[in-house]
Amino acid sequence: MTGRNTKTKRALLAALNSSNIPMSVSELVKKLHVNKTTIYRELASFIEEGSISEVDFSDGQKRYELTPDGHHHHAVCMDCKAVVELEIEPIIKKLEQNVIKQSGFMLRKHQIEFFGVCRDCA
Ligand SMILES: [Zn+2]
Ligand SMILES: [Zn+2]
Repeated sequence: MTGRNTKTKRALLAALNSSNIPMSVSELVKKLHVNKTTIYRELASFIEEGSISEVDFSDGQKRYELTPDGHHHHAVCMDCKAVVELEIEPIIKKLEQNVIKQSGFMLRKHQIEFFGVCRDCA
């Protein structure tokens, strides 16, 4: 691994760590001053090892966040874009068993986010 790559990896992890909501690639490009291709390449290797997860808040761009303890789900405010991390993975696991039963599929991933209006915006 070259020194330059290590620096980008560290900067990427630091940027995601300092943000309290998942970041898009364009936000990461702005923050790190490196090109998209580099960001995607670095993200791909972290995603493969599981320390970063991709999330989709249905707003046309994928977002990324640190997930050292495994991925999790979110509630997203449709007004102010506030994001709350949920602890519902055990329930989701049960849901998956039901999905496997109904579909006979080998599941690889699931993508479940919740959208509404937060207390401040209600
Ligand atoms: Zn809100
Ligand atoms: Zn999950």
